[in-house]
Amino acid sequence: MQLFPCPFCGPRDEHEFHFAGEAGKARPDTTRTVSPEGWAHYLNDQRNEKGRVREVWMHLTCSELFAMERDSVTMEVLSSAPLREDAQ
Ligand SMILES: [Zn+2]
Repeated sequence: MQLFPCPFCGPRDEHEFHFAGEAGKARPDTTRTVSPEGWAHYLNDQRNEKGRVREVWMHLTCSELFAMERDSVTMEVLSSAPLREDAQ
């Protein structure tokens, strides 16, 4: 078991969290035509980087989304921060 730090609730069991995606991933501009390949790329392709990564996670208990920085090799959590600017 690993503890993940929810910025709102504190350290909690990893099973209370859901991976929501890579942080900073840009959604295609829907005011213009987006090809099926463009959507597929946005939805399915991941950078899958080795080492320090920044991701968006949801704490299922409080339903808050937050950014978590961790090392994808060691699984060490480096930081977590709310996505909402009005949080804290
Ligand atoms: Zn929480």
